Amino acid sequence: MTFVTELVCVVCGRASSPPVSSGTCGHCADPFATLDVRYDMQAVASSMTREALATRALNHWRYAELLPVEPVKKAFAYPVGWTPILETTRLADWAGVSRLRLKDDTRNPTACFKDRASSVGVLHATQHGAERIASASTGNAASSLAGFAAMAGMPATIFVPERAPEPKIAQLLVFGADVRRVRGSYAQAYDLCSSECEQHGWYNRNCAINPYLVEGKKTCGLEIAEQTADDPVDWVVISVGDGCTIAGIIKGLRQMHELGWIDRVPRVLGVQAEKMSPIVEAFDSGVLPEEYCGTTMADSIDVPVPRNWRKAVNAVRDVDGAYIRVTDEQIMDAMKSAGSLAGVFAEPAAAASIAGVKRAASEGVIARGANVLAVVTGSGLKDIASAMRVAGSPTDVDPL
Ligand SMILES: *Cc1c(COP(=O)(O)O)cnc(C)c1O
Repeated sequence: MTFVTELVCVVCGRASSPPVSSGTCGHCADPFATLDVRYDMQAVASSMTREALATRALNHWRYAELLPVEPVKKAFAYPVGWTPILETTRLADWAGVSRLRLKDDTRNPTACFKDRASSVGVLHATQHGAERIASASTGNAASSLAGFAAMAGMPATIFVPERAPEPKIAQLLVFGADVRRVRGSYAQAYDLCSSECEQHGWYNRNCAINPYLVEGKKTCGLEIAEQTADDPVDWVVISVGDGCTIAGIIKGLRQMHELGWIDRVPRVLGVQAEKMSPIVEAFDSGVLPEEYCGTTMADSIDVPVPRNWRKAVNAVRDVDGAYIRVTDEQIMDAMKSAGSLAGVFAEPAAAASIAGVKRAASEGVIARGANVLAVVTGSGLKDIASAMRVAGSPTDVDPL
C-alpha cells in the first residue's frame, strides 16, 4: 500500500487516472500538462514520525511514505541518497557569500543525482510488471537507468543524442544497456524514445512526463530539510535542464515543512546556462520560448525544450525564489574553483549551480550574508574532455 491519493494536472488542476509510466493529463491537449503525485499527508504524518525515521537506514528509502512505490526495506544492492553536505569556507569566500555548503550528489551509485529518480523508476516498473524500461537522456539519466536496470535484472533501451560525452556512453554500455545513439539532438532522441515506448509498450522513464520519477528527485529536498533542520539554509541553488530536479527538490522541501521538520522553506535559485535558458525566459515572461536556439558546454542542462518547465517555474515562484543565467566561462571557473578550493570534482552542469551562487551574490540576488547550499548533481569524471579543457595539462618531465 502506498500513501498516494491522486495525480493532478499542473495545467487544469483536475485529477487524472494514474498512468502506468509516462503520461500527461487526459483532459488537456497541452503537451506540457504534466501530472503531480499527491499524498494523504495526514496519514504520512502519523506514520513518518521522528521516532520512526530515527530507526531507519540512512538512504532515500527512509522516506517510504512519500514515495509512489510499495515500501521496500532495501530495493537494490546499492543504497541511494543521504549524500553528504560539505562545509566549504574557501569556496564560500570565492563565491562571495558568508556560508556555502555543497550537497554532494556525485556520491550516488552511478555518480549522479539522477540515481534518485532511476531507482524509484526501476522499482516502480518492476512492481508494475514492466518487461523493458527505456529512456532518452543527455547522458546521466541514461547511465543511471542502465545501472539500476542491471541491478534489477531488467533490460533497458537507451536513446542518447549524438553529442553525449563518451564516459557516460561507456558507463551505459558497461551496464549492458541496448544503446541507440540518435543522429540528432536530445529533443530528437526524446521524441524517438517516446514513440518507441508507445509502439512496444515499454516502461518510459523519461522524467519530464513520468510523474513517479520526479518523486525520486524529491528525496534530495527531503534530505536537505532533515540534514539541515538544526542549521537551516537561506537559499538552495540548483542547476536546471528539463526542470524536474528543481521542481522535485522544492516539493521535498515543502513537504518537510508541512510535516513540521523545518520552520520555513528556503528560497530556491535555479541556474541555467546563458545560451540555453528557456526556463529563465519562461520564468520572466510566463511562456516557454518557441524554437529556442543556443547551446552550452554543460551537456546535462543543454535542453532547449524543457518538458517540465511549468513545474519548474511555479515551484520557484511558490518559494519566493529566483532564476539566474551563467556563462560557460563562469561554469568553467566554478569547476576549477570547486575542485581546487573544496576538493569537489563536478561536471559542468553540476558546477553551474556553484557558478550561479557567485553570480547571484555579485548581482545582489543573494545577499552576501546569506547561508547557501548548492547541489552538486554529477561527477566531473563523467565529462573528462571538459575537465581537461578547464584544468589544463600536466607538466611533462623526464624520469631520473
Ligand atoms: C539532469 C541533470 C541536471 C538537471 O536536471 P533537470 O531535471 O533536467 O532540470 C543537472 N545536473 C546534472 C548533472 C544532471 O544530470
